[in-house]
Amino acid sequence: MPAIAVIGGGINGVMSAWTLARAGHTVTLFERDTLISHTSQASSKLLHGGLRYLENGEIALVRRALADRDWWLAQNSKLASPLAICLPLYRHARRSRWQLKAGLWLYDHLAGHSALPRHAFVPPAALLQNGDRLCPHQLLGGYRYYDAQMDDARLGLWAAQQARTAGVSLNEHALVSRINCDGSLQLGGQRLQFDAIVNACGPWAERLLTESQIASPLMLDTVRGSHIVLDRPLSQGYLLEVTGERRVVFVLPWQGQTLIGTTEQRQAPDAPVACSDAEAIYLLRLYNDYFPPASETEICGRYAGIRPLLKSARDPNRAQREHALITQGRLLSVFGGKWTTSPSLAREVALCVEQQLRT
Ligand SMILES: Cc1cc2nc3c(=O)[nH]c(=O)nc-3n(C[C@H](O)[C@H](O)[C@H](O)COP(=O)(O)OP(=O)(O)OC[C@H]3O[C@@H](n4cnc5c(N)ncnc54)[C@H](O)[C@@H]3O)c2cc1C
Repeated sequence: MPAIAVIGGGINGVMSAWTLARAGHTVTLFERDTLISHTSQASSKLLHGGLRYLENGEIALVRRALADRDWWLAQNSKLASPLAICLPLYRHARRSRWQLKAGLWLYDHLAGHSALPRHAFVPPAALLQNGDRLCPHQLLGGYRYYDAQMDDARLGLWAAQQARTAGVSLNEHALVSRINCDGSLQLGGQRLQFDAIVNACGPWAERLLTESQIASPLMLDTVRGSHIVLDRPLSQGYLLEVTGERRVVFVLPWQGQTLIGTTEQRQAPDAPVACSDAEAIYLLRLYNDYFPPASETEICGRYAGIRPLLKSARDPNRAQREHALITQGRLLSVFGGKWTTSPSLAREVALCVEQQLRT
């Protein structure tokens, strides 16, 4: 059986390893820290098609992500569950009612025969009844649509357990310092030989290539995203426009509290990853524009992660969320990739590896 090395124990590495093992390969995964301990446990906890990506024309990505969202819901209903999200409509909003309606219609259409309810208009009186105390000033009503929420850290570890059961050898605290296009890699003082290597290092994928003196055909834009947590309950999710900006931010119920995110700040992948005070204040201001004001002292948690985005736009908000797979000899590198779409990404990885092994 061909021996495959997967480097990186985030969700994309774990799902790739699991899928390759199910395809009959002998798979060894190397993670320099612990499994699901970086970007994949610092997400907005959404399994979603990505409604806002429709504005960037990423129709194929949204369709695939919606199918993957439903796959996760079918796999583990304890750690992934449907979530109602409200898009309130204010008189002064940037996006018109008809823009939202068109986007949601397309979103439902792309979801095909999903079991999740389709979007619906909610009149203002009904919107204000749920105890969340959304600002009523100039509120015209809102749309409710459905995506899913997950416990990213636990669901990722569940996937790792499935990979282990399928025969993957999972190695933590295993830093790979060099990879080569002939399928060999350097782990500590050892040189190990494989039939193929999958570089699934997320935000660090390009750096591993550079450190291995392999020209990287694509560039990654590493963009920090931060969240804050308020100790206030919330009955449903909200997708809210940032005042004066095109950006939208999620305000979500999370373990009896309120999760608010995210931001987009370019940073080097090796700089410390933490939510800055400026980001926390930015997110708190957004919250305070829509809900009864909370003070900084009410922030009871904050975290940050780095998105591995394909370099595609000056403004990271407009950057593509698609991934790319690049083959160089016996080496396959994964650039980008959402949490939600890791199952379909993993299937693509398995197909590419099959092709590599045939040549
Ligand atoms: C703020 C934020 C919010 C997000 N929200 C969502 C969301 O709600 N829904 C969604 O679908 N997506 C979301 N995403 C995107 C998603 O979280 C990421 O795209 C995804 O987690 C990336 O997973 P990964 O496996 O590629 O990277 P990572 O999880 O970062 O894993 C890469 C792993 O490689 C390891 N590694 C690196 N170098 C080496 C080496 N040399 N040797 C061994 N191991 C190495 C690292 O230690 C790391 O564990 C969000 C991203 C951010 C930043």
